Amino acid sequence: MTGRPGRSGKGGSQPGAGDLLELVRSGRAVTRGALQQATGLSRATVGQRLDRLFRAGWLREGAGGPVESPLGGRPAITLEFDDSHAVVLAADLDTRHARAAVLTLTGEIVAERAGILVVEDGPEAVLGELGRWFAALLAEAGQPPHEVCGIGLAVPGPVDSGTGRVVQPPMMPGWDGYDIRGRLSRAFTEHTGAAPVPVLVDNDANLMAYGEQRTAYPDCSAFVLVKVSTGIGAGVVVGGSVYRGVDGGAGDIGHIRVGSEALCRCGSYGCLAAVASGGAVARRLAESGVPAASGSDVRDLLAAGHPQAAALAREAGRRVGDVLATVVTLLNPGVLMIAGDLAGTAFLTGVRELLYQRALPRSTARLDVVTSRLGERAALVGAGALVVEHLYAPERVEERLLALGV
Ligand SMILES: [Zn+2]
Repeated sequence: MTGRPGRSGKGGSQPGAGDLLELVRSGRAVTRGALQQATGLSRATVGQRLDRLFRAGWLREGAGGPVESPLGGRPAITLEFDDSHAVVLAADLDTRHARAAVLTLTGEIVAERAGILVVEDGPEAVLGELGRWFAALLAEAGQPPHEVCGIGLAVPGPVDSGTGRVVQPPMMPGWDGYDIRGRLSRAFTEHTGAAPVPVLVDNDANLMAYGEQRTAYPDCSAFVLVKVSTGIGAGVVVGGSVYRGVDGGAGDIGHIRVGSEALCRCGSYGCLAAVASGGAVARRLAESGVPAASGSDVRDLLAAGHPQAAALAREAGRRVGDVLATVVTLLNPGVLMIAGDLAGTAFLTGVRELLYQRALPRSTARLDVVTSRLGERAALVGAGALVVEHLYAPERVEERLLALGV
C-alpha cells in the first residue's frame, strides 16, 4: 500500500480518505496505528482523513472494543464501516418473475418481495413496475427514499457494463440496446420523490457468482457459478472481481453448440440451452404428457421426487458437465457452484459424471463442486455488493465526500 499512487482526486501522491476507508472495510487495517503503517501517512494526516469519514457518517468506532496496537503502547480503538447511513436497492429479473429488496450496505436484506413480472412485456413497463416495488419496499422497511445510495439490477442476458445496456439478449425481446439505467432511475424518482441515484446493471449469473463468492468463499481466487434455470449462464469471479470479458459476453455458455437438432431461443440450432436448460427439460416433460412449461415447473417436479423429471435433469447435467470440463480446464477454479432451478442431486450427479471423466485430473483435483448457499437471493446480494463496491471505491470516495460538504 505504501507508495501507491494517491487517489485523493487532488493530483497528490498520498493515499486519500478513500484508501483509508477501503483498508477499514476490507479488514486489512482497522486501527489508526495500522492505517499509519499501511499507508505511511503521519498520525495527523490519518486523523484528518478519518475525521472527514466520521463527519460523512461512513465510519464509526467499533463495538468490539480496543485491540492491541501494532505500534505498541496502549490498546487501540478499532474502526468500522458505518452501514447505517444509507441503503441499497436491488432487483433480480428472471424471464417470468422478479425479486427485489432493500439491503444494508453490508448486504443484509431488510425488506424483500417476489412476484410475477414478465420480461417480454418490455423494459418500459417492467422497469416502471420495479420503481413501484422499490417505493413499497422502502415504506415497508421504514427507510426514507433519500437514504438510498444506488440501485443494482440483475438481468437474464449479456450486459455491456460500460453502458448498462443488454446486448442481443435471446431471452429479453425488446430490450436490446435499451437505456435500462435511465428508465430505472426515472422510475425510482417518480415513485419515491427522491433524487436520482446511480443504477448498475449486470448479468444475473455474474451477480449470483459475485454474491455467493463474497459470502461463502471469500478466499477463493477463481470461482465459477453456473445458473441453470429457463436458460443457462455462467458467472466467473477472479481475484474477487467479476470477469466480464471485453464486451460483457464472458460466461454465456448456454449458446455453445453441442450438436443437436434442437432449436434454441437465440434462433440457432444445437445450443447447450436448447437441450439442457430448465426450459428444455420442461419441453421434454410436456411432450410426454407431464405438465411443465418453465424451469421453475421442473424445480417443483424435482422437489416432489418426480422420477422422469429426475432422469431428464441428470441427463441435462451430463450435457452441461461435458461443457464444464472445458470451462474447468481453462479456468482451473477452486469452486464450481451449480445454481438455478435444476440445481439438485440429479443434475449434480450428471455434471459430476461427465466433468470428472472429461476434465484433466489436475484441474479437478482441488475443485469443489457445490450447490448454491444463498439460493434465490444470490443475485440480490451480488447486485447490492456491486453497488457498494462501486460507490465506496477509493477513486469515487473523494468526489462523494466533497458533494456531502466534508
Ligand atoms: Zn442459443
